[in-house]
Amino acid sequence: MRRLRRTKIVATLGPASGDRAVIERLFQAGADVFRINMSHTSHDRMRELIAILRDVERACGRPIGVLVDLQGPKLRLGTFAGGPVMVTRGASFTLDSQDAPGDASRVFLPHPEILEAAQPGQTLLLDDGKVRLMATEKTPGRLVTRVEVGGRLSDRKGVSLPETMLPFSALAPKDRSDLEAALEAGIDWVALSFIQRPEDIAEARKITRGRASVMAKIEKPQAVQRLDEIMDLSDALMVARGDLGVELPLERVPGIQKQITRAARRAGKPVVVATQMLESMIASPVPTRAEVSDVATAIFEGADAVMLSAESAAGQYPVEAVTTMDRIAQEVEADPTYRTIIQGQRAEPEPTGADAIAAAARQIAETLDLSAVICWTSSGSTALRMARERPEPPIVAISPSVATGRKLSLVWGVHCVIGEDARNQDDMVERACRIAFAEGFAKAGRRVIILAGLPLGTPGATNMLRIAFVGADHADATPV
Ligand code: PEP
Repeated sequence: MRRLRRTKIVATLGPASGDRAVIERLFQAGADVFRINMSHTSHDRMRELIAILRDVERACGRPIGVLVDLQGPKLRLGTFAGGPVMVTRGASFTLDSQDAPGDASRVFLPHPEILEAAQPGQTLLLDDGKVRLMATEKTPGRLVTRVEVGGRLSDRKGVSLPETMLPFSALAPKDRSDLEAALEAGIDWVALSFIQRPEDIAEARKITRGRASVMAKIEKPQAVQRLDEIMDLSDALMVARGDLGVELPLERVPGIQKQITRAARRAGKPVVVATQMLESMIASPVPTRAEVSDVATAIFEGADAVMLSAESAAGQYPVEAVTTMDRIAQEVEADPTYRTIIQGQRAEPEPTGADAIAAAARQIAETLDLSAVICWTSSGSTALRMARERPEPPIVAISPSVATGRKLSLVWGVHCVIGEDARNQDDMVERACRIAFAEGFAKAGRRVIILAGLPLGTPGATNMLRIAFVGADHADATPV
């Protein structure tokens, strides 16, 4: 089974998509990677979902990526004595360390580090930015604020401090225990929420130790400022537009989305555009024109993947949402302007053998109108560098590692087939042609280009290019 688009689709699982039948339909409709959000999922439920996904993978014969999204250090208010309160513009409102129910003049903030770190003049956003406060005065254990945008406050609403460097890591104790459980359950990707600095990624890497790839969610202004350093340590990025739009003015989000997408493409790291892409499809079987245009913009920009959150997790039309994204991606990628826009953002190859060969392979494949670019890859790095070139023909990766196949399910244009390493050069060419034929990427009489590192199975040794004819005899035998 092959997808008829290069851009991948990430679908979040939740109550609307928790059983095997729906998950299989989501996969058939086009979901390449499934996201499990640990803000709403217990360890037992996560393990159940992963077991279902592996079962669907076996039944469909294609690698499926599993992405576990950690909650991160979510800050929350304490409670209010008499239920919700209204705070009005211009009034004073205090956050303090008194563990007692609050009222319209004060509330407990169960994070002493925040009371310590926030400074007069800095902004605090409550309940996803619906209420805005400005810190005016600070004494030990007490932060007095002025209400700039008033509204209703109730128990345990979220708190964001876009202008304050928070003095703790992106891995709260819950995140550490969720991550350990997820690694044990055999996930492929972990997404880190509310990271502020490169050290946050380094800390997660110490725990993952190569057992899962690490995706940095860019959702705080501090992370935007240190994007390059964060990207260096990450395997992928997510433009987490939900919280980004709380912590920064909404009108800045589209520009930041473009900057992150372009930076990730330059680095050859996968980038996912997330949140509210087809929001109205939570309750409607068709999206709005603006949503279709939003998904199309991410695809035109060359994002590796577009993501569904509540649309697939809690909406009434999860399968229709995936089908809609699939149709938009196919249509955009067939648009006459698509290739020129994609080419306009292509970065020069870096001075490595792998990049020089990937660039040459793309040029040869496009000049000769070849049917596919086939990479033999053990760790997936050759396929990633090939994807960085955004070639016109599809990329077929052949890897002996199931983990590599699952990881690559997130990557632009890559269709990964699991198969043992080739025995020699002839076997490598022969099997590449058979796989291209069997998977529907090349017909008899067409040519493909093959990339490999010799000796085979040596990661990072990409050093060979070969153009090969797919013949009628390649239809005969089992490919792998
Ligand atoms: C986001 O904020 O856009 C996001 C993807 O994060 P979460 O859904 O975990 O809040």
